[in-house]
Formats: sequence, structure tokens, C-alpha cells
Amino acid sequence: MPIRPKSEFLVFGQPEIQQEEIDEVIDSMHKGWLGTGPKVAKFEQDFAAYKNMPYVAALNSCTAALHLSLLAAGIGPGDEVITTPMTFCATVNAIIHAGATPVLADIDIDSLNIAPDKIREKITSKTRAILPVHFAGRPCDMDAIVRIANEYQLKLIEDCAHAIETEYHGEKAGTFGDFSCFSFYATKNVSSGEGGMVLAKREEDIARIKILGLHGMSKDAWKRFGDDGYKHYQVVECGFKYNMMDLQAAMGMHQLARVEKNWLRRQQIWSHYQQAFADLPIDLPAEVEAETRHAYHLYTVLIDESRAGLSRDQFLDAMTVQNIGVGVHYLSLPEHPYYQKRFGWKPEDYPNAHLVGQQTLSLPISPKLSDTDIADVIQAVKNSIRY
Ligand SMILES: *Cc1c(COP(=O)(O)O)cnc(C)c1O
Repeated sequence: MPIRPKSEFLVFGQPEIQQEEIDEVIDSMHKGWLGTGPKVAKFEQDFAAYKNMPYVAALNSCTAALHLSLLAAGIGPGDEVITTPMTFCATVNAIIHAGATPVLADIDIDSLNIAPDKIREKITSKTRAILPVHFAGRPCDMDAIVRIANEYQLKLIEDCAHAIETEYHGEKAGTFGDFSCFSFYATKNVSSGEGGMVLAKREEDIARIKILGLHGMSKDAWKRFGDDGYKHYQVVECGFKYNMMDLQAAMGMHQLARVEKNWLRRQQIWSHYQQAFADLPIDLPAEVEAETRHAYHLYTVLIDESRAGLSRDQFLDAMTVQNIGVGVHYLSLPEHPYYQKRFGWKPEDYPNAHLVGQQTLSLPISPKLSDTDIADVIQAVKNSIRY
């Protein structure tokens, strides 16, 4: 059983950085334009073109995008927002920061996405929005979710942090909701180190988000980033400091240009894993649903101790010992003490998410992996199961 040399720990979720990003960042530094400027404008245009949606705003994170989407949707104290227990904490934290109350609807055990029938069970007179997450890059059941949103006149905000390339029934993820939010965090499919983007259906919503994202300064304040001299600005509401820097956009625009190339590589890695692990006593991701496109952001397996002979955490340790970095996406949100104390959430009330939270493990799927890296991951998984 080959073990990777100690010096070559395979870091989980490595970004794939090329010379063009490096040159572009250096160009910004030479020009001295570090903050929001022409490269952010170009990145926004490129992203709008990729999604074929006109109204976009670049921000400094997906968390900021979620927060401002909720505010622009008019959601605040007394309102309830339904989301999934199987997501990153930022999804619910944004709801809390908007002053609203997050309400969880359990996931479907195969897709790992929020289950539409569970959403229906959680609707009350206070429900104002649904916030689905396209988990791992697999699209949610958007036909059903859009139907529920229309039926109850709820806002729809898509968390597309895993789902830049995702499509559902011929439509791109992020084009269903009133708002949709993307992440360019270091490990995401397109990275700017830190960064986010929001799409809105309505022009006035994106205008409001641009104001809220830059201290609440009037829309024309963005023009003070031009080179035609000083302009007065007016503060029209109490906003936030959420704007993206040109240094970030310098990376993001070249990453976006390679989004399809990198997707193809991750698809290949995904298929290798599916074949290599087919006979192991672990649960593999469900095959991609017909008429959809998976973004292959995460490759997650479930380790059931009674079948695999070891627990998820033992499996995680066994991979680490073999110098393979792995991830856990995620412990279910009700397992965290803050939410238990504040909302009284109990893991056992969300049995599917709880089970996944206890058994899930993510294997590396970065386009940066070499063929040898992939072979090492596969061998390490097989070694671990025979631990
Ligand atoms: C990464 C992530 C976020 C937060 O993205 P940031 O850009 O780091 O703020 C939100 N939701 C999900 C599902 C994520 O994976």
C-alpha cells in the first residue's frame, strides 16, 4: 500500500492559480488601483454574460451577498426564512444578521438538498422567503420550490456558493430566484481569494444592493472610483463595507474564463471516483439527475460504521495519516451549540441532515489534482476501508 511521502500532504480544496491571475494582480499593483475599480466592473460584466443575467453586483463575500439580498428583499425582524440544515453556517448567520428567524426544513437523503415537502410543513404566517442551497453543486428541485414560492408569495434567494456551473431543466442556477448569491472563497470553483457576487431579477434590487454594499452612499458614489476627479456623495442609508477590490477581481476574471475547463477536469475526477469506489461498503453520491448539470464542487461519501468497519472520524484520521487532506461538509447546523441555545434546534428533529452530518466526508476534487494525486486518493480510501 503506497503512502504519500510526508513532505507531500495533499491540501484539501486547493485553488488552481495560473500565471494570468498572477500577472493581473501585479498589473493592479503597478497601476496602484487596489480597491473597487475597472477590474471589478469587468468581472461583473463577465459574470453577467456567463449567467446571461443583466443585474449583478460584485461584493467581498457570498455571506455579504446573502445578507444584502435578504435586506433588499425587505426581510427583517419578525420574518421567517426557510433554509436547509445541511449548509455552511454563513447561510443561517446571514438570516440572523438581517434580523429574521431561520427555520430549517430537512434534506432529501439522496440529493442532500432541501426537501420541498419539508418546506411546506414549515410555512407559517410569518414565512417570507425560501433560501435553498444547491448542495455540492447538485441543483435543488427548483420546479417544486418555485411552485411553493409562487403559491405563498415568498421571496426566493438561491445560495449558489457551490453552484456556479449548475443547471436545472435547461436553466442556469441563480436564474430562478429573486436573488442568487455566489462565493469566490479560496476553495470554491471560481476563486478570488475572498469574494462574492449577487444576481437580482429586478434592476432596482441590484441598485439597492450596490448602495447597501458601500456604506449606504448614493449610487453615483461608485463613479467616484472613476478618474474624472472628486465628486460629492450622499449617504442615503446606513450601509455596510462589502465592496470587492480590483485585486480580487483580477484573480476572479481569469478564474471565470477557465470555469468550463476546470469543470471538465472535476467531472473526470468525479467519474474516476464513482468507478473506483463502486464496490466499497460506503455510500457514493447519487448519479447526476437527468436534464440537470452538476457543478461537481464537492465529492462526498457517507461512512456508515456498521458497514465500513470504521467511523467517519476514524476514516478521516486514516486519510490524514496517509497525507490526504479531506473535508466535512457539513455537521448539520442543529449540532452547533449557538443555534441550539438560541433557537432550541435539536439534531434529531432533522434526521436526514443529522445522519449525513455524522457520516459525510469530502474527498479532494480540485482541478489542480494530478493523475498521481487522484490515484493516491483512491488507494488511500481503499487502504482506510481495510484499516
Ligand atoms: C462558502 C459558502 C458560503 C459563504 O461564502 P463566503 O464567500 O465565504 O462568504 C455560503 N454558503 C455556502 C453553502 C458556502 O459553501
